[in-house]
Amino acid sequence: MAECPKCGGEMREGEVFVTVTTPSVQSSTFGMMDMLGTVFPGVEMTRDEKIRWREKTGRKTGPLKKGEDERIMKTSGRRCMKCGYIELYAQE
Ligand SMILES: [Zn+2]
Repeated sequence: MAECPKCGGEMREGEVFVTVTTPSVQSSTFGMMDMLGTVFPGVEMTRDEKIRWREKTGRKTGPLKKGEDERIMKTSGRRCMKCGYIELYAQE
């Protein structure tokens, strides 16, 4: 069992998410308005995206590409059930 570095409470495994809202653009919106006589509310798409970690490796990617190589890792974490402290870590 993992222990909280702040208070020593029990840590529970979890993942970090961000909710992305994308308003959908529909060409038939005006047609709907005429038919129903009311404003048809735009349908918003929401989805959960995982947060990832990106870091420079320090290696050059090669003579053709400029810039440094990057590593992208998925992130997960632990939350203390006592004080709410969140500890994040990234793994490939
Ligand atoms: Zn704690």
